[in-house]
Amino acid sequence: MTNWQKSLISFVFLFIMLVFAWQQTLAPAPHADSALDYTALSRHVSVIAARPQTMGSAANREVRDYIVEYFESLGLATEVQKATVVYRHPFRPTRATIIGNVENIIARLPGTSATPDGGADDLVLMTHYDSRPDGPGAADDASGTASVMEVARIMAAGPRPVHDVIFLITDGEEMGLLGAQGFFRQHPAAKKAGLVLNLEARGSYGASSMFETSENNAWLIDNLLESAPDLVASSLAYEIYRYMPNDTDMSISKGEGIPGLNFAFVAGLFDYHAMTDTPENLNPGTLAQQANYLLGTALHFANLDDWQTSSGDKTYFNLWRGSLVSYSQGVAVTIGLVVLALGLWMFGAALRAGTINKASLGTGLLAVITLMVLVSNVFESLIDYQQTTATGISRLVSLGEWPLLAYFVTTLGITVWFGHAIKRGLSKFEVFAPAVVLALLSLLAGRPWFSGVLLLLILIALLWFIRGRKNTPDLWNAALLVWWLLAALLLYFAPNASYLLVWPLASVLLGITLQRRLGRFANGGGRFIAVLAISIIPLLLLPPVIVLGYLALGTALPQGIMMICVLSLLLLWPLVRNLGSVVNGKGGLVLLGAGLVMTVVVVFGRGFDSRHPLGEELFYAIDVDQQQGFWVSSDARPGSWLGELMGEHASKANITRIMPGYDQEVHIRETALPEFKAATLELNSDRQTEAGREISFHLQSPAAAEYINLLFSNDAGISAVTVNGLPVKIPDMQAKEDSIMEKADSMKMKDKTRAEAWWRWRWYGLPREGADVVLTLEAGRPLTVKIIEVDYELPDAAPQRPANSMRKQYTWSDSTVIFQTLVLD
Ligand SMILES: [Zn+2]
Repeated sequence: MTNWQKSLISFVFLFIMLVFAWQQTLAPAPHADSALDYTALSRHVSVIAARPQTMGSAANREVRDYIVEYFESLGLATEVQKATVVYRHPFRPTRATIIGNVENIIARLPGTSATPDGGADDLVLMTHYDSRPDGPGAADDASGTASVMEVARIMAAGPRPVHDVIFLITDGEEMGLLGAQGFFRQHPAAKKAGLVLNLEARGSYGASSMFETSENNAWLIDNLLESAPDLVASSLAYEIYRYMPNDTDMSISKGEGIPGLNFAFVAGLFDYHAMTDTPENLNPGTLAQQANYLLGTALHFANLDDWQTSSGDKTYFNLWRGSLVSYSQGVAVTIGLVVLALGLWMFGAALRAGTINKASLGTGLLAVITLMVLVSNVFESLIDYQQTTATGISRLVSLGEWPLLAYFVTTLGITVWFGHAIKRGLSKFEVFAPAVVLALLSLLAGRPWFSGVLLLLILIALLWFIRGRKNTPDLWNAALLVWWLLAALLLYFAPNASYLLVWPLASVLLGITLQRRLGRFANGGGRFIAVLAISIIPLLLLPPVIVLGYLALGTALPQGIMMICVLSLLLLWPLVRNLGSVVNGKGGLVLLGAGLVMTVVVVFGRGFDSRHPLGEELFYAIDVDQQQGFWVSSDARPGSWLGELMGEHASKANITRIMPGYDQEVHIRETALPEFKAATLELNSDRQTEAGREISFHLQSPAAAEYINLLFSNDAGISAVTVNGLPVKIPDMQAKEDSIMEKADSMKMKDKTRAEAWWRWRWYGLPREGADVVLTLEAGRPLTVKIIEVDYELPDAAPQRPANSMRKQYTWSDSTVIFQTLVLD
């Protein structure tokens, strides 16, 4: 075989395997033989996600009524649980106190088994119907709501299940899992909940997967495998999710000790919590897959006679869709130890036989480190550069998987070039050029110049050292050694995630043994086929994880993802090196060139359009105390539309005027004040008690603001609070103050007294009729209350946005903010 033939076949093989692996991350076409009515499913999504339905909004109430009427039309006993939830983050006590008036929808399908009271054996199908104000939430979570509704229709029409089934559609998930807290901590039915199936979304397309379980999942996984069609699931996702700050409603049920399974999809992060999370942009295959998982598992678990608890977790993962491997943690540990022992034994034998030379291995390890430094810094600079432009990262997110492809080809090119160059012996040019390019890139990205110079020196030193060695660096064995160490670490810390490293390592180790045996009688062609064969398992397991890792977490952190790519490519070095053996051993540079062109296109190419609009902030603020109205935007560089609106009349101001304690420069433009009605604090009583001065007032928002910030002056000495009779815990003010002062210091805030003076409340979904608040404070101290109402609508006079602009996420964009100060002497 010629080098050209080997190179071409390796390239085509790699290409086909990568495309196949990428396809596994997409949703399949909807199952034709499902009992689900896909038309009804999409219709529910269209109704629910016609516009944002944030808790407390009119749209939220319309959606609630639609769902309640639907459940009632199925003949299910349906109720709306109205609960007041007071919440402070358990690990972040310094955050605002959150109060929410939630309205959960609960429908019940009675089962046939009349178990004595006290047995927790009801099946709960859970999802949430509220969305963020930033988007209509077709995926998050109308997709889940529609799925639960469709499954309810099928189950209500079918034979009665063994277990009672509760269809729980929560409210206020987006504001801090408020509805789930209201149900699982306050509703009597929660005591009978024995198993929860939850549906979530963090994107708009891609394969839905079962990504989270409760502890001791062996029994759950066995039954899941029997019931969910074409399941995509991985115990790696579960291990990663454990260490992530993300939460879903299942965090609450899990916290209450109720077992559960959690399903979600993550591709299309651009649409997550965005105005583009519309029914049109939700992939129908993804929606159908979520609903089919729920249907299969709900029917299965609802009809299982007895639910068991098991001890121990399982390892589970897909080789491809429809082929899910699962085994116990004990088996995972055994396989891991056997593979690690095999590696150790082969290593010892190779050392004794002289096939591995210690000096070459040492230089090889240094080469692996050099390559990692090189690649990670290229992408770190790239991302730092993107972050210097205000919209860089969100543009990258809008491009989906394309940036990953460009980065991967670049990384492939660097790896292949480097592997051949160190084997041939680095030229002086090859020592200096990469270091200089990297230093320039890091300066372009605006990273501190000394770190650029330091990087230059370190890289030149590393490359110079490698160049000076007499032994050719043994890159492949060094990579195998690194891979072995990582596999051992993963086996120790997360045995059920270790398959990801153990199986590819096993494949390559067995391949080496096989190649040696073949070597005696096979020709080069036979050995080449063996190289292809041992690459199959790694190429099935690693690329989908890399793609999903990039989509879910990696847009702003591609350097980590690319380091995993480098290690994977080095593991498959016998295959990968073939790509560079053409063009006088410089095939890697051809790949690198292609990768760079693709990267430039990705970084500087297409702008925002109507499918991927730019998030721009504009809100309207009403200062009740001064009787003034303003357009406000915190965008540092307003786009053309915002720039025109703000024009020369805009001035700069500090947001702290509207939101005390926040230190941010904003553009404001004063305009005529529209008619408005601000919130009222009506004094019910003001009296002395043994505990101090007790003030009771009634809070009401005639503007029907969905979200109200209440700030109480800390120096009033508040010692007790109730909301509608419910006690509100007073935070540790000293800890709060320390933390805020620390933050104020780190943010270099000019006036630190602004931050510490307030106890903040965020109140979501204040009922129309208002609520009663009773405060006990020290006698003789005045109480200052700042009320900031956020109504998720702009006044009628608001300018129309162009199609390539949308409401900016996680801001007050497209809201009217009414702020006032009240002093009770
Ligand atoms: Zn959600």
